Amino acid sequence: MSVAANGNAYAHGSDAFNFTTFKHCINGILTDTKQHRHGVNPTNLQAEPEVPVATKEDVDKAVDAARQAYKTWSRVPYVDRVRAVLAYADAVAECKEEFIRLLTTEQGKPTCQATAEVEAAIEWMRGMAELRFDEEVIEESPERIITTRYLPLGVVAAIVPWNFPTLLATAKIAPAILTGNTIIVKPSPFTPYSGLKLVELAQRFFPPGVVQSLSGDDDLGPWLTSHPGIDKISFTGSTHTGKLVAQSAAKTLKRITLELGGNDAAIVCEDVDIAKVAPKIATFCFLNSGQICLCMKRVYIHKSIYAEFREALIQHVRTLQVGDGFHPETFCGPIQNSMQYDRVKGFFADIEEEGWSVAIGGKVEKSGGYYINPTIIDNPPDDSRIVVEEPFGPIVPILAWEDEQEVIDRANETRMGLGGSVWSSDIHRASRIARQLESGTVWVNNHFDLSPKAPFGGFKESGIGVEWGVNGLKGFCNSQTLMVNKTPV
Ligand code: NAD
Repeated sequence: MSVAANGNAYAHGSDAFNFTTFKHCINGILTDTKQHRHGVNPTNLQAEPEVPVATKEDVDKAVDAARQAYKTWSRVPYVDRVRAVLAYADAVAECKEEFIRLLTTEQGKPTCQATAEVEAAIEWMRGMAELRFDEEVIEESPERIITTRYLPLGVVAAIVPWNFPTLLATAKIAPAILTGNTIIVKPSPFTPYSGLKLVELAQRFFPPGVVQSLSGDDDLGPWLTSHPGIDKISFTGSTHTGKLVAQSAAKTLKRITLELGGNDAAIVCEDVDIAKVAPKIATFCFLNSGQICLCMKRVYIHKSIYAEFREALIQHVRTLQVGDGFHPETFCGPIQNSMQYDRVKGFFADIEEEGWSVAIGGKVEKSGGYYINPTIIDNPPDDSRIVVEEPFGPIVPILAWEDEQEVIDRANETRMGLGGSVWSSDIHRASRIARQLESGTVWVNNHFDLSPKAPFGGFKESGIGVEWGVNGLKGFCNSQTLMVNKTPV
């Protein structure tokens, strides 16, 4: 099997590719189901188009097709798989505007942030296609050669959350199929549309069964994680669900990558330029209305600048407009779904109950969508829920610190370990602090800066394994040791 030079070897995708109807893609064919459900536009609470609800039989069919396709796809030369992924990335780029509109509609994020996500989705596919991970010769002597090889695992199920439905789908599809696996993508029931369209578009570039989609309700995830025909689960979502995935996958010893929740700390030192740094900190707290695993969720500010920095934060947060993601001035769109809206409102209910001081915000106004104003809680106790838990919404605590070791210990005093950052004009000092943070990614004078070439994962209960980068590609492979004895027998 080979892929044509333009990568467009498989014309079995829909000729009438549109952004209005949404179906499963099983074995290269767009399929519907008897039962349907629909997402809800978080901006106006209107029903979105219907999507199929997968049955157990659909799962079996997709797994059979994926296993069948794997037999040939895993033998396609790496360069040809790269070519196909690049051609697919180009096709997504051609439909960029439609994917952006779809993303803002289903997720609620402002168009500029949706643009950044779709552009990252394309960049991630292209970036990972540039990575190389050849066989490694570990030892070569007159007697023997020992080589480490990386072989695909088989069928991957990609389970995607609702906060980054586009990027987190392509960032799983690309590494899985580059490494010779086949993949079934399951978008979140809250945001099924972008994932289904991405997989539909993929049909033009990959043989039937290589990239498939299934959308459904709460049964679908467990059906995939327990299916004996699936070899790996690439999961991104909450720590709670990640543990369920690990339990279920353990029964068949599936490989798992878990990208889970975070409770990122930012440590602001006393030597920062407050006017420059405060707006950046506010941005990283409230991007996507706080619904990012890598949003800052605890901001530790040195005591000597605390009051001034808090004031600068308040000034900036006042400028952040809340509203419809299609409005060009909007910075905070709605919370994506009613479940999350209720959870975040729970933290607002705690404000009065726990007696927290509010620097700005603090009230959930009644409105036509799931809107919440960005809110800063002023120096709550370290053991309060707003410090300990991940709200995943626009409510963030700021906390005062005095001693370097003390703030490092407080930043690390969590079961989470996804990201963390240190802000200082002294790079050496900041790097020294950053190196002591227990999290998968640490930044100095930045946050949420990622690369398709850098492995991404969490310490502690923020995850198992990494995705992206060469290490991420290897996560989709079995490592095989090949020892060739050179002595004639
Ligand atoms: P979630 O765990 O509720 O859902 C994630 C996905 O898992 C969805 O597709 C859902 O349908 C599916 N699912 C639900 N129950 C399942 C089960 N029992 N078995 C298998 N699959 C199941 O998470 P969410 O609310 O969609 O996303 C928000 C969470 O995701 C936050 O905690 C956030 O920090 C985390 N997140 C982590 C990263 C990361 O890369 N570390 C990125 C984005 C979001």
